[in-house]
Amino acid sequence: MLKCLILGSVAALATLTAAPIPAQAAPQILAPPVPPNASVRPYVKVDGKTVVLRHVGLIDGTGATAQDDRTVIVTNGRIAAVGGPNLAAPAGAQVLDLTGRTVLPGIVGMHDHMYYIARPNMDAAGHSEPPLMVPQMTFSSPRLYLAAGVTTMRTTGSVEPYVDLNVKSLIDAGGMVGPHMDVTGPYLEGSSSPFIQMHALRDAADATRTVAYWADMGATSFKAYMNITRAELGAAIQEAHKRGLKLTGHLCSVTYPEAVALGIDNLEHGFFVNTQLDPGKQPDVCPRTAGDPTLLAMTPESPEADRLIRLLVDHHVAVTSTLPVFEQRVPMHSPLNPKAMAVLTVEAREAYLYARNLTNQAPRDRYADAAKEFQNDLGLERKFVAAGGLLIAGPDPTGNGGVIPGFGDQREVELLVEAGFTPVEAIKIATLNGATYLGLADRIGSIAPGKDADLVVVKGDPSKAIADIENVEIVFKDGVGYDAPKLLESVKGRYGQY
Ligand SMILES: [Zn+2]
Repeated sequence: MLKCLILGSVAALATLTAAPIPAQAAPQILAPPVPPNASVRPYVKVDGKTVVLRHVGLIDGTGATAQDDRTVIVTNGRIAAVGGPNLAAPAGAQVLDLTGRTVLPGIVGMHDHMYYIARPNMDAAGHSEPPLMVPQMTFSSPRLYLAAGVTTMRTTGSVEPYVDLNVKSLIDAGGMVGPHMDVTGPYLEGSSSPFIQMHALRDAADATRTVAYWADMGATSFKAYMNITRAELGAAIQEAHKRGLKLTGHLCSVTYPEAVALGIDNLEHGFFVNTQLDPGKQPDVCPRTAGDPTLLAMTPESPEADRLIRLLVDHHVAVTSTLPVFEQRVPMHSPLNPKAMAVLTVEAREAYLYARNLTNQAPRDRYADAAKEFQNDLGLERKFVAAGGLLIAGPDPTGNGGVIPGFGDQREVELLVEAGFTPVEAIKIATLNGATYLGLADRIGSIAPGKDADLVVVKGDPSKAIADIENVEIVFKDGVGYDAPKLLESVKGRYGQY
């Protein structure tokens, strides 16, 4: 009976899917565009061969000053021309009057997981039962990212790598809604991980084998995690580099300077998870303090900060800012966004509101360090950029449940402005800088003739009021315009479930 049910449901599923999951071609973050199929078409709003965006404000992603009343011409998925209000429209073009709107490059989300963090049986006092799990959000996450203006994303650690690879294949084949994907392999984690879904590496040889296997399967990046040893990290970096792939890390057992010496390409979470000044730090062991004492001691003006930033810049190590997830630890800091709350399941919303309430109601002194760390990190990120460092951006949708795919990417840009960057600088960090890290700055990340038409149209002007970045109306990917509100509507009440 059960077998029949399963076979029956598989048959039913097959009728819903227009095409089977294609086999992975050679790994490529930006696959050649193909037209959307029947399951994607309902979310397409604009798909003329030639589309003209008229009377639109322009933030080009390079950090240049915003311009009013521009014209952007898109032909065959590429940006054909950018000019003033008198730029002639080609014959037969679909013309959109975008008065009161601004166009910016698609966001390149560099810490954009495909899962939700679950705390089983969480109660109002904050108690939950083990194990800690991260259920995969295959349906809702890609839609949420695209609806928010994310046109390219890195998964930055996968718990269901086969699923992420299949999602990428389907998106690239026009059979599923979502951004271009840089699929990161499964977390490269050592022993004693809190996450039951992660493999614990046995030794350096296991790290080499794991990277080799997942690179063969189509993973285009890798991420080390909190309990990896230096030997395992070194082996993983070597294998990834042998294949022309980059490796990042959410570190703890290995300090930032140690990882730089091993050749790491990128460090996740700004300056929050460096353990080099944690008291009693043992080599290859993640201390319980997990970097808090280091960040408290490393004020932006300190000589330690100068030395670390110089080291990172000299070795071309990028840093990923993930401010939304750390904002959750600061009482009364993160806004309660009704549009974001609407996409959560009832259970996910309740769990988040419990956690939020506990943080906001706690005695202030209990969170004084968290607020101080947040301020230190903002200053260090600014200083890193001023010193010539490549800062990239992503939300890290984990934490207490308040960081949500897509919404979190927009919030990250707002928090970069809080850190002291101008709105156009913050947008550059979230667009062109990510493209630069991926080696794709000639294709995406800014608005210029010849580049891919990955564009976001928002109501208002984020160069004047950064919160306008939330008012997404149309998201173009390879020149096809997706209906952002309709995508959001399609996942209402779903995030946390599937
Ligand atoms: Zn993460």
